[in-house]
Amino acid sequence: MAKDDIILSKKHGVNPSMMICPICGETTGVALLGKLKGDAEAPRQILGTHPCKECEEKAGTDKVYILSIDEDHSLQGYVLVPKSILTIDVRGCVIAMHKKEFDEVFADAINKSKNAS
Ligand SMILES: [Zn+2]
Repeated sequence: MAKDDIILSKKHGVNPSMMICPICGETTGVALLGKLKGDAEAPRQILGTHPCKECEEKAGTDKVYILSIDEDHSLQGYVLVPKSILTIDVRGCVIAMHKKEFDEVFADAINKSKNAS
């Protein structure tokens, strides 16, 4: 059996789950989770790690989405920033931060944009 083989669940088969774009929530595909711990049924939706085509195009090659992820792994928000502000090379256009640190780092920017509108 290869490392990437899906172990079928007797109850749920390939146990599919819709993958959604972490930015806009559009469906981007289907994940086949197979047998999960305790033979649980797959959640209806899971947050994909890749954005949809539209969100990817919005970021282009020079911007990156920084996602705010809560302790329960739910998406709490995001900012789209130029890659040039980062000190590391980011492949793709999505990176994630813990919500607590995200809120500390981006609190000023978020408050300013709220006041501006
Ligand atoms: Zn999207």
